[in-house]
This record gives sequence, C-alpha cells and structure tokens, in this order.
Amino acid sequence: MKVIIMGAPGSGKGTQAGFVAKEVGIPKISTGDMLRENVAANTPLGQEAKEIMEAGGLVSDDIIINMLTERVKQDDCERGFVLDGVPRTVRQAEMMEANGLQVDEVLVIETDDDAIIKRMAGRRVCPEDGATYHVETKKPKNDGKCDICGADLITRTDDSPETVQSRLKNYHEQTEPIAEFYQGKTGVTKIDGTQSIEDVHTHVIGALELVLLRMYA
Ligand code: AMP
Repeated sequence: MKVIIMGAPGSGKGTQAGFVAKEVGIPKISTGDMLRENVAANTPLGQEAKEIMEAGGLVSDDIIINMLTERVKQDDCERGFVLDGVPRTVRQAEMMEANGLQVDEVLVIETDDDAIIKRMAGRRVCPEDGATYHVETKKPKNDGKCDICGADLITRTDDSPETVQSRLKNYHEQTEPIAEFYQGKTGVTKIDGTQSIEDVHTHVIGALELVLLRMYA
C-alpha cells in the first residue's frame, strides 16, 4: 500500500504516518527527517538545506525527488510505504508520477491555522530518533525525555511562530493544490485534523480499510 499523508505543519501528519507505518508494517518516509539527518551529519545536501529549512522555505524539487526515488528503491519499500511531507509541490507530484511513483491513496489532514500556531509552540522532538511529543497533548513518560531512547527533547528551530507562519503560507500556496492534482487519479480522503489524535487515527485507519477493499476487490 502506497499512501501520502498530507497536512499543514503541525497537523499531526507525522504522528499519523508513524501509526500507519507500524500497523500496516510499511516504512514511513519523511523527507523532513531525511533532510534533518543530513543537516545533523553536515553532508553537502545538509549544508544546502539547512538555511532554507531554518527560514521555513522549501528545498528544491530536484533534491527532494532524487532523495525520494533512491529511498523507495530500498528493499523495505517492496510492500509499500507511507509518505510524510512529500510531495510538497505540484511539481514534486508530477515528477513522482514521471518516475513511476504512483500512490493508492492521499489522506489530507485538515486543520485550522490559529490552532496550528498554538500547537507548534508546544511541540518537542527527540534529536536522536525524531519522535515527536507535545507539552500538553502528547507528553513523554518522563518530563523532557524521549520515551524511546531517553535523550533530552528539543524544540525544533523551525517551530517558532514566525517560521510557522511562513510554513503555513507555503502549505496553502504550494502543497494544498496537490489534493486537486490527485483527484480522479487516485483516492483522496479529507480528514478533520482538529479532533483528538485517537479520533484522527480512527478515521485514517477507516480510510485505509476502504483502500484495501478497493485494491483487492
Ligand atoms: P517537515 O518535517 O516535513 O515539516 O519538514 C521540515 C522542513 O524540511 C520543511 O519546512 C522544508 O524546509 C523541508 N522539506 C521537507 N520535505 C520537503 C519537501 N518535500 N519539499 C521541500 N522541502 C521539504
């Protein structure tokens, strides 16, 4: 099963993509995580992406699609994957299609900008494994520590309100039109992301069950 989970920054798409990956047994591919790993390792790609990411901009479509094309060739993607944060522009979706990278479903998690700005201020991430938490809605078991590896949690530099505004603008202008691009090509399901994590998850799983029924009908 090949799925795209789309949503504004802070919509919870990464969390939901993580659940789907675990439950369906397919890898979650997050271009944001891959870029952050490159920044942390100070690779040439990381050096190129760092400033753009810190300013809330978008990394070039060519870099992203090259990175993604290489990633999906790996053995663990044989049974499918869940894409988190990619495609981010209609051009990326077109390049994916041109490279034979089709998907079975696009899930769009819809949220409200004001709620996002508030939500992002409380977001914390693990610098070691990318796990995400929230100071109110998704607390770690031990204050400020990652549940998985125990590392100190940090606030992402691109989660500041100014950067979030710019990321939301990019989302509305460049990413939202992707749902339109996929209409008529594959399933597109919109999910109300203002609900609790559990309720969003229930809707995500419900939508994927319908995809399975469609795939094996
Ligand atoms: P994310 O973790 O998905 O919010 O991504 C963090 C940052 O990485 C974004 O704000 C962009 O600067 C960059 N990024 C991640 N995925 C993409 C993509 N598909 N296209 C362009 N830039 C991306």
